[in-house]
Amino acid sequence: MPSFPDPPPAVSVDAILWAQQRFQNLVNCVDGVVWEADPVTFRFTFVSAQAEHILGYRIEDWYAEGFWIDHIHPQDRERTVDYRAMQTKGGNSHALEYRMLAADGRVVWIKDSVNVGVCADQVVYMCGIMIDITEFERAEQALRLSATVFESSTDGIVITDAKTRILNVNHAFCVITGYAADEVLGQTPALLQSGQQDASFYQTMWQSIAEHGRWSGEISNRRKSGEVFIEFLSISQVQDASGTVTNYIGTFSDISHVKAAQSQIERLSYFDALTNLPNRALLQERLQHALRNAESKNQRVALLTMNIERLGHINDTLGHDVGDQVIIAVAERLAASVRNADTVFRHLGDEFAVILEDLDSAHAAAHLAERVLTALSVAFRLEEHEISVSACIGISLFPDDGKTPSMLLKNVDVALHHAKGSGSFQFFREEMNVASMERLLIENNLRLALRRNEFQVYYQAQLDFASGQIIGMEALVRWAHPEMGLISPMRFIPVAEETGQIVEIGLWVLRTACQETQRWHEQGYDHLRVAVNVSAKQFNQDDFAAQVKQVLRETGLAPERLELELTESLIMQRPERVIGTMQELRSLGVRFSIDDFGTGYSSLAQLKRFPIYKLKIDQSFTSDIGIDINGAAITRAIIALGTSMHLQVIAEGVETHAQQRFLIDNGCHSMQGYLFSRPIPADEFSCLLASHDASPYVGAVD
Ligand code: C2E
Ligand code: MG
Ligand code: MG
Repeated sequence: MPSFPDPPPAVSVDAILWAQQRFQNLVNCVDGVVWEADPVTFRFTFVSAQAEHILGYRIEDWYAEGFWIDHIHPQDRERTVDYRAMQTKGGNSHALEYRMLAADGRVVWIKDSVNVGVCADQVVYMCGIMIDITEFERAEQALRLSATVFESSTDGIVITDAKTRILNVNHAFCVITGYAADEVLGQTPALLQSGQQDASFYQTMWQSIAEHGRWSGEISNRRKSGEVFIEFLSISQVQDASGTVTNYIGTFSDISHVKAAQSQIERLSYFDALTNLPNRALLQERLQHALRNAESKNQRVALLTMNIERLGHINDTLGHDVGDQVIIAVAERLAASVRNADTVFRHLGDEFAVILEDLDSAHAAAHLAERVLTALSVAFRLEEHEISVSACIGISLFPDDGKTPSMLLKNVDVALHHAKGSGSFQFFREEMNVASMERLLIENNLRLALRRNEFQVYYQAQLDFASGQIIGMEALVRWAHPEMGLISPMRFIPVAEETGQIVEIGLWVLRTACQETQRWHEQGYDHLRVAVNVSAKQFNQDDFAAQVKQVLRETGLAPERLELELTESLIMQRPERVIGTMQELRSLGVRFSIDDFGTGYSSLAQLKRFPIYKLKIDQSFTSDIGIDINGAAITRAIIALGTSMHLQVIAEGVETHAQQRFLIDNGCHSMQGYLFSRPIPADEFSCLLASHDASPYVGAVD
């Protein structure tokens, strides 16, 4: 504590010392450095005791020449010294803020207030007080920072007092709400309420703020324009040191666009973009819901799936845009055909589904299916195209055909598969599943069959009526599966055709048949001609002719000894192309026969254009001989037709002598059937050849 001596009675040395002491005490009371300096060199001539604390230098150091200038922060030095020199020269008292460097390297912010003494226009004196304002400066900077954050935040910020009256809002608040700051100051945030939250919502919100000091969540508010928007809002409570609530701070962001994007994503994942119909994902959900409902009410539900046939063909020929328009048009007709309560779904690319609830009987589902098919039977007019589509429908019923969505979906698929190509509808039947299972089993095993060498070629002899000789044989594939046993081609060829595996299998049969026939030729039976069945997929390959030539080259079989069996439907599909391939092979010597003749729709005029060698009367007609007069009439007609066109005619499926007699009497050239021989393996066929008449072929047929 500074000591205060008693005042002396008059001016004396004591009095001067007393005054000096008082002055010293006063100076030391100041929380800053009181200083005097030379007004020209700025060298300190006096500094108070505080000098030692403010920068950490000893008092003596302060008196050194240039101390002040040297310890100013280099970045502030020039401006500070220049300013002081100018002000001092002008005799102006002034104040300055600048940074100094402390002994320990700290940067200390100084506020320096300077008094300049002037006498007879001469600056004769200067003194001042340096105060450490580092803390203040730091706080101010923090404040500046907060203010910048507040103003530049893209989140709206609102500050209220304890009674929720608005004290301040930032720029983003004004942008989001559309209100100017002075329109809302003094009001409460209730002016933004949209009315979409009820009183209990706000009650819960304030309760959470009171209990936990904060709340956050989604809320819809109203802009000044009246537009409602969704924001994500956080409210925090501010308390003073005594725990009394002084303010609330609300920050919010406009998430309307996020919400819109969310609902768009939701829409895309549940609705088909092309038709706007609910998609497969929603079908599963709705079906689940419908089944639960029906179970509790003891009702039935029908699930219909409809396939637009030949959509791929429309896409290929008229383009995907037209294909898309067909889908949209079909969706519209379908939606117009169902009851209001029934929902239509776009199930897969060319498949739609309908759930029928509150169903009294299966008839209602059949009626709807009929209605839909009738509606679709009217051609669509799309741009300049008139497009006819045909559809087929599968139906499965709850609870009869399945108690779960997945079961109903699986079975309706099976029913649809059976309806394909019929242009009609099919209810699911349990037998269909057995057939489907078998089909699946065949499909899966077929993949491995070639590699596992499970195929074999059987041969069925063809007998010439005129000579009584075996003139050739039909190669018929057999599949010996290790577990399923011998599988008929009637069962696996259609599957192989559908999956495309027929191409590989067919080539294998062709090669094997040519190889084995060539072996018989080498054994002396060189008149034998082998007939090999060719399916449409196989024949329609671009390089089919090249494949046949290659096989003939490899096996050494003369092309004249190969006969390819085609069906009427195959040759009528793409006649121009087929004729080209046939001619290419025919020019080599290969011959063609039309298998199952009479069952297709080939026109006579058309038939003449193909290089055909032989007609094979289908076994359904042969077997009718002697039973049905139509069978006999057709057989007779085919023989007459063939002969008039100079074609060979062979009858297949000949089982009785009566049939054989009829055929001979009517001029048929040859036969194939159980009566003479069943299809048999190659080694047995060798025995048949040997036991029959092994002499060289005598009566030429062609
Ligand atoms: P398909 O070409 O019309 O062959 C004649 C079918 O009639 C053969 O049946 C044969 O065993 C049978 N058959 C022959 N004679 C008689 C008879 O007197 N009575 C009766 N009831 N049936 C007789 P398979 O071998 O079961 O072949 C059925 C069909 O499978 C063939 O009909 C053919 O369309 C197809 N197929 C057979 N092998 C092949 C092949 O290697 N490639 C292709 N693409 N199809 C083949
Ligand atoms: Mg055949
Ligand atoms: Mg046939």
